[in-house]
Formats: sequence, C-alpha cells, structure tokens
Amino acid sequence: MPSIFSKIISREIPADIVYEDDVCLAFRDIAPKAPVHILVIPKHEIVSLADLSESDEALMGRCVVAASKIAASEGLSGGYRLIVNCGEDGGQEVPHLHFHLMGGRKMTWPPG
Ligand code: 5GP
Repeated sequence: MPSIFSKIISREIPADIVYEDDVCLAFRDIAPKAPVHILVIPKHEIVSLADLSESDEALMGRCVVAASKIAASEGLSGGYRLIVNCGEDGGQEVPHLHFHLMGGRKMTWPPG
C-alpha cells in the first residue's frame, strides 16, 4: 500500500528535497531529531529491510552511496549516523524503507 513517502516521490505532498537521482530520493525529516536529519529512500516501493531480496542489492548500494554523498554536502566531516528502523520492534512507523541520515551533534550509544 502506498505510504506518505510515495506521495513525496510523486510530489503530491511537499518535502524539502536535498537529493534525487533515478532510483533514490532524499528529503529533510519533518520532525528532525538532530541538526541534520535527512531520509534517504528508494523510489521503488519496498516496505522494510525484511522485504529485501537479492534483486535489491544494487538499489540498496545506491541509497547508501547517496547518503554518503549527502553527508559530505551537508558538511558532516566529524561523522554521522545512518540508521534503518525495521518493523514494529525496530521502531519503524512509515512502511516505506528509509535510511535516517543524522548528524550535526554527538550521537549516543546504544539507541533506545
Ligand atoms: P521511522 O520511525 O519509520 O523509522 O521514521 C519515519 C520518519 O519519517 C520520522 O522521523 C518522521 O518524522 C518522518 N516523517 C513522517 N511523515 C513525514 C512527512 O510527511 N514528511 C517528512 N519530511 N518526514 C516525515
């Protein structure tokens, strides 16, 4: 079922888009938990990490490399965190696979 992120991809609802290519889209989180909090998503609809198959390997690589480029363009030279929440226990709320790129502050470990 299409999620809110599908509507961002189709421009039905607005978002602060910071990066786009043929397979990935990145936009600022509407409720940022860090000075830089960007969501990197595959345009192809995949619900979660649990739904990946071998055919998604290249796509996932593209998203991670995009996140690395975005981190550099955001000036996160001191480091950052790239997180995927998967399913209910993982704290996933939006059922469209997304990478949280977070930085601009010192992260703590472990996450809650
Ligand atoms: P999850 O908990 O699924 O890993 O993370 C979902 C993230 O999407 C949350 O950080 C939330 O703030 C963000 N989010 C939810 N709805 C929207 C929206 O309509 N626009 C944007 N830019 N971010 C959203």
